Amino acid sequence: MDVYVDKPFCTGCQHCKDVCPVGTYEMRSRADASKVNADSAPEEAKWKGAVNGQVKDKWSKINDGHKHFAVENDGTSGGISAAVNGSSCILCQACLIECEGECIRITDDSGNKYKSVYK
Ligand code: SF4
Ligand code: SF4
Repeated sequence: MDVYVDKPFCTGCQHCKDVCPVGTYEMRSRADASKVNADSAPEEAKWKGAVNGQVKDKWSKINDGHKHFAVENDGTSGGISAAVNGSSCILCQACLIECEGECIRITDDSGNKYKSVYK
């Protein structure tokens, strides 16, 4: 199983880390691109310091208790997600419906592709 986060779309909500039963995700500082880009994201999906404008417009106005687009993670939200343990994914699909930024991409061992769609 291959899992990566399309970084410019990640709000930092931390839902992926909270729901994943196998510890695929870690939240990392937006200030350290080398650590954020620790998963298999292709070049166009890597973190280069800029949030996608549409996702920022949408989620920066929503007060749901999560630290959207905060540089650092405080244990509840903030920072940016890296799928550092994608090989452990069991395709339970929990993260695929909880991802605010709709930015999780999974490819299973048969090559089938999955994209997160927020519930
Ligand atoms: S689909 Fe995979 S990465 Fe997502 S929550 Fe389930 S086990 Fe974790
Ligand atoms: S659920 Fe999606 S938007 Fe939220 S931190 Fe994880 S990858 Fe980023």
